[in-house]
Amino acid sequence: MYLVLLGPPGAGKGTQAKKLAENLRLPHISTGDILRRNVKDNTALGKQAKGIMDKGLLVPDDLVAKMLDERFNNPDIKNGFILDGYPRTLAQAKTLDDILGRKGKKIDLVVYLNTSDEVIIKRLGGRLVCSKCGANFHVINMPPKVGGACDNCGGSLYQRSDDNEITVRKRLEVYKKEVASLIEYYSKVKKLRSLNADLDAGVVLKQIIDLSAKV
Ligand code: ADP
Ligand code: ZN
Repeated sequence: MYLVLLGPPGAGKGTQAKKLAENLRLPHISTGDILRRNVKDNTALGKQAKGIMDKGLLVPDDLVAKMLDERFNNPDIKNGFILDGYPRTLAQAKTLDDILGRKGKKIDLVVYLNTSDEVIIKRLGGRLVCSKCGANFHVINMPPKVGGACDNCGGSLYQRSDDNEITVRKRLEVYKKEVASLIEYYSKVKKLRSLNADLDAGVVLKQIIDLSAKV
């Protein structure tokens, strides 16, 4: 099952992708996570990406495509993956088809997590991320059991530098400009399914699992 999660920042892509990955026993591939790791490790890619990410803009296509192509060479994707954060533009959707095609694979399902602006702003404002395993928490909706520490691995929790109000608004603007063409692209090939992602995370997860079982 080669599954893509599509949706605005704050839709819960990361949260759902992690649970789905466990449930379906597939790797979770998040372009945002890979980029943040590069920033943290101060790689050449990380140095190029950091300023762009803090502004809420998209990292150039060629850099992200190369990064993903390398990731897809890992044999752990032989039975599928949960892809989160890619594609974000029509050009990226075509690139994804190309990269996968060259490896003899294709996307099976695209789940669109439809989310209202109000919910997005609330979720991102209170989001906390584990510095070790990347799990997401929320100060109000999903508080960690022990303040400041991850429930899964005990790692310390931090607020992402791009989760401030100004950058969130920019990320949303970029997202809205691009998403319609992606929806059209995946609707045409009948791979798109939409869900209301304002609902509780557990409800959304169950719906995605049901959709994936029908493919
Ligand atoms: P969110 O979807 O919540 O905004 P992500 O963690 O997916 O957060 O991405 C954070 C940032 O990483 C983006 O704002 C962008 O700068 C960069 N990024 C992630 N994925 C891509 C991509 N596919 N193309 C270009 N830039 C990306
Ligand atoms: Zn953790």
